[in-house]
Amino acid sequence: MTDTNICAFVDAQGFYINGKFVVRECAIVSEKLQLCQEFNPNFKWNDLSDADKSNVKYCTKYHGLTLNPKDLYLIPNSNKIEDYLKSFYTLLATDEKPYFAVKNDQFKQLLIDFNIPHCDLNKRNIPAIKQLERDFRTTWICSHHMLSRNRYFKCAYRKCLIIWKYFCYFSGESQYLKETTLKNETTSN
Ligand SMILES: [Zn+2]
Repeated sequence: MTDTNICAFVDAQGFYINGKFVVRECAIVSEKLQLCQEFNPNFKWNDLSDADKSNVKYCTKYHGLTLNPKDLYLIPNSNKIEDYLKSFYTLLATDEKPYFAVKNDQFKQLLIDFNIPHCDLNKRNIPAIKQLERDFRTTWICSHHMLSRNRYFKCAYRKCLIIWKYFCYFSGESQYLKETTLKNETTSN
């Protein structure tokens, strides 16, 4: 596995409902396209078990996504995520670059379930996302999240773009270390 085998970076935020990871937003970032699609879990709050309700509340605090999107117009149901990922995999993967890169164990399990070739960035020696966000000074969220000035929310799109930047813009670990060390030295002077 090398960096050049990767056709796109993918990530998702969502909820655990009925023991299953339900995708609420899914980001795909590659040289050819960058996008983040909202999905509609289509669950009614009152139909959820007490355990699922408390899990949804916990996750919403973490990523700032409501259970269902506010505007359902043209937003696919969450159970369409398999077709969605497979269609983009078909579009982006080549013989030379056959892997979606993922750094998210819950989402990786979906890629395994869907038989989509992938590489697990959690098994690679790359910096933690929080570290990359600090180094690149990036904390924005995409428009799918609730607005909050004071809270730090996880965003699948931000995460994919920051990993893409790490791999492509900085051409890998050594250049990243050189650039961030240089920047930190410049800042502290
Ligand atoms: Zn987002």
